[in-house]
Amino acid sequence: MRRRIVAANWKMNGSQELAKSLVGDVRKGIAALDNEAEVVIIPPALYVASVQQLLDGVAQVGVQNIAAWESGAYTGEISGKMAADVGCGYAVVGHSERRQLFGESDAVIAEKVGQGIAAGVQIILCVGETLTQREAGLAVEVVSAQLREALKDVSGEQWKQVVVAYEPVWAIGTGKTATSEDAQAVHQAMRSQLSEMGAPAQDMTLLYGGSVKPDNAKELFAQPDIDGGLIGGASLKASDFLAICKAI
Ligand code: PEP
Repeated sequence: MRRRIVAANWKMNGSQELAKSLVGDVRKGIAALDNEAEVVIIPPALYVASVQQLLDGVAQVGVQNIAAWESGAYTGEISGKMAADVGCGYAVVGHSERRQLFGESDAVIAEKVGQGIAAGVQIILCVGETLTQREAGLAVEVVSAQLREALKDVSGEQWKQVVVAYEPVWAIGTGKTATSEDAQAVHQAMRSQLSEMGAPAQDMTLLYGGSVKPDNAKELFAQPDIDGGLIGGASLKASDFLAICKAI
């Protein structure tokens, strides 16, 4: 069964102060939502505990990244098991900022997917093409290859722990959004690719991310293969984020 998810990726933004005011407002709004949206707040890991406390159970909490290993001498890393241990239901894996700024390869991302699944968290796997790749007509090819690589070890019941976010790199934090037709076309192609890989593609939740705002969310979420969004910048303003949650 497909879920409708709106996830807030705060990236490396925020403070105790911001968490208090933002989550305070968001919590009231989520409690009053009258649609089927499942809301996930993904703050920097240091704020997970306070965000959980402030949310008081009205939304799930996730982490922005997990390690490719289970435990050990990996200074600075946080494991999927630790995320699960503190009650995080979700882990973002393969965000384009991790791929570009921290050199994460598809092979490393596949390890992280495996760790998250073993720990029992839901993976939000990010995939997406660069502007050069889109202009060369390679968007579907690039995204399909990322899915094949990152999810190569997933099978059977494990698919239930995978959510995919299509995030064209050129649309992240730029104010440029894919048209709803272009985003829908890639989402449809992703379902075909997932199906080829043996995944229950029609039941999987596929999100769109990349400059989603209150004024474009409704049209994007109305597309038949777009089940929700991964929201960066707009998730830092309670009124904008809640308007996007209402657009489901
Ligand atoms: C993101 O960080 O995943 C994202 C989609 O950012 P933005 O909404 O700011 O483009």
